[in-house]
Amino acid sequence: MHMQLIAIPTFTDNYIWLLRTTQQAIIIDPGDAMPVINYLQKEKCQPAAILLTHHHWDHTDGVALLKQHYPDIAVYGPNETKDKGINHLISDGDHIVIGTFRFLVIAVPGHTLGHVAYYCKPWLFCGDTLLSGGCGKIFEGTAQQLYHSLNKLASLPDDTQICCGHEYTLSNMKFAAHILPTDPDIQHYLHEVIKRRQQSLSTLPSLLSTEKKINIFLRCNSIKKTQTILPANSLSSPEILFATLRQLKNSY
Ligand SMILES: [Zn+2]
Repeated sequence: MHMQLIAIPTFTDNYIWLLRTTQQAIIIDPGDAMPVINYLQKEKCQPAAILLTHHHWDHTDGVALLKQHYPDIAVYGPNETKDKGINHLISDGDHIVIGTFRFLVIAVPGHTLGHVAYYCKPWLFCGDTLLSGGCGKIFEGTAQQLYHSLNKLASLPDDTQICCGHEYTLSNMKFAAHILPTDPDIQHYLHEVIKRRQQSLSTLPSLLSTEKKINIFLRCNSIKKTQTILPANSLSSPEILFATLRQLKNSY
């Protein structure tokens, strides 16, 4: 069965992801309904389900209108999305089977407390936890929670395709190059991303193997004093480095 991954851009920098076969589609984090409905109508494709990663409006606001258009649609989400139109409550470790697709639910608190990711080999839909070159802001959880969540995602196979919620890669890579100014992998990737964005091309999905090289938030256990502009006390443990980086990124 041919499976296809589609990214529908919306708002200024969000992506709504669609995973589809010829007849069926699964929609991940529809913050907006009309771009999705337009796509489905043009493609004569029936949506089977919506998956929600967390409760923020820019990931959930399209659900109501999609349900009006497609009343039989199944809507999966964690407890924190219970007033966002879900009809299937899911939690960590659940397996969701929709047609030929099978998803594993992975709890990844930090950005929000009930945030989940959905893994359907090789695709990972991780909302606002792991972003390309960076990670989401900590709105509800702690730095330690988000650090632990990112490590969980980093333990997936290297060929995992990271399908995150935002096109923030350029800003993340500029920050990474500021923190590790002489790192060849980061310099190289920054230039790659600048080129892609100049041509209005997406930088997503990205490969987990790439993220392990260029995402400083996934490298907190190996960054050395000689590589970085950071003071030595922020390198005393991977958790402290992670919290420092996340804090600095907020105001960069
Ligand atoms: Zn969010």
